[in-house]
Amino acid sequence: MTRVLISADMEGATGTVSPADVAAGTPRYERFRRLLTQDVNAAVAGFADAGAEEIVVNDAHCGMDNVLIEELDPRAVLIVGRHKPLGMMEGLEDGIDAVAFVGYHTGAGEQGVLAHTYLSHSILGVRIDGEPVGEGGFNALVAAEAGVPVVLVTGDDLTCREAAGYAPGCRTVAVKRAISRHAAVCRTPAVTAADIRREAAAALSAPPPRPTPRATAHVVEVDVDSPHLADRASALSGVELSGPRTVRMDTPDTVTALRRFRALSWVIGGGREGDWT
Ligand SMILES: [Zn+2]
Repeated sequence: MTRVLISADMEGATGTVSPADVAAGTPRYERFRRLLTQDVNAAVAGFADAGAEEIVVNDAHCGMDNVLIEELDPRAVLIVGRHKPLGMMEGLEDGIDAVAFVGYHTGAGEQGVLAHTYLSHSILGVRIDGEPVGEGGFNALVAAEAGVPVVLVTGDDLTCREAAGYAPGCRTVAVKRAISRHAAVCRTPAVTAADIRREAAAALSAPPPRPTPRATAHVVEVDVDSPHLADRASALSGVELSGPRTVRMDTPDTVTALRRFRALSWVIGGGREGDWT
């Protein structure tokens, strides 16, 4: 029995380029959540073509309730909603054979459409053991600790390039070519769906080797854009200031690193100043 987890973010979906495209409550968002669902469906179809018997889609963007379940391929089940222990990687449990990142984007401080790491503001960069990571790189480490390879990544061209670094051998589909943070050359949904389906099938037919599952201790460092946010974050147990705008924490394993980083992002996000001059 082959089981696949699809972690579905939104900034890297077909056609999205602006914050309004991915922010619930805007008319544009209602269009783009449909396109996100189409990208997800294409991946589901491709994995099913290659023999996947169970496909779990984890909605991983913002409120984590973006994919339209009424339009989702019925061969998948949908994890929807917030406060999941593993967040973007919820569903990574025993028996998952492969992970796909659909609609992903580059990390904070990088070029690329709507690049960020968790917060759209305040976080300037994240390093694990000295290496810069975005959401894809972080989540790939979580998958690797469980012995599961990342087999497919979709997003803009720079997201695909980033994926080649953290998940060598995975298949990628660039649904758009980044021009700036808020502009891209976008391919149309019918074209990207065909590519995603084909690459998903190929990815599961010849996946990269499984990583050896083992708990790995990490040093996580986070750069923020204002000293008061670092001060605030350092109130959390185990989080230390390591510079005026940088905090660090030592974590015993990658799941703990992810859970503590998420809490850190909430504390940082809650301290953002309003506009003043
Ligand atoms: Zn994201």
